Amino acid sequence: MHTHTQLIYLDTNSPLICATRILDAGQDNVGHYLILDKTVAHVRGGGQLGDRGRIGDATLLDVRRANDEVRHYVEGVSPVVGANVAVKVDPEFRRRSSRWHTAGHLLAAALEHEIPGFAASAAQQWPTDAWVTGLWAVPIAEDLTQRLQRFIDDARAADLPVVVKLGDVRTVQIQGHRPVPCGGTHVASIGAIGPLHVEDVRIKKGVLKARYTCDDEKKDIVFFIGLPSC
Ligand SMILES: [Zn+2]
Repeated sequence: MHTHTQLIYLDTNSPLICATRILDAGQDNVGHYLILDKTVAHVRGGGQLGDRGRIGDATLLDVRRANDEVRHYVEGVSPVVGANVAVKVDPEFRRRSSRWHTAGHLLAAALEHEIPGFAASAAQQWPTDAWVTGLWAVPIAEDLTQRLQRFIDDARAADLPVVVKLGDVRTVQIQGHRPVPCGGTHVASIGAIGPLHVEDVRIKKGVLKARYTCDDEKKDIVFFIGLPSC
């Protein structure tokens, strides 16, 4: 069975809804899943959660890569294999997820700016537990957290553009900082992240870990859901 799923969301112009076909279905230890021929839903990875939304009449709970395929986990009345349905991302969830994810990039840029020689190598942007890490064993300045916060607040005030480039390796770049490989979803400019707080920075066993939170407000930007163009 050919189970390759076209990942439409990797294009930054991707709508949040598209028509798709159910290629296969199954059950694993996470739950009941569907394999789609194409999707606009972000696949969990790079520290970012999978998108939530709807597939036909079912609720989309998560999207994960497993066994070389992209599994859309659903609950409710699941469409059958062969059915043509719409996959739709919850715009509020995506908006929040993109804000927190882009915030991780900004904190990484702040760390690399304030600690010469440091390179961020891993991150997680879950609203319940968000952090950036990298190898680092040298003691850090006492005022590092305040300096990171100042850097972040300045970048927010400047509303720096966030540019995604497609290619063999998809990259994302906050204007003025180095491009980094990334398959996640982003806000178009740093101002859209909203208030970002550096919680603390710690070094343990040669690994630096900076934790952060973002303010979540209901008055988020209205997200236009495009017509099914895929
Ligand atoms: Zn990213």
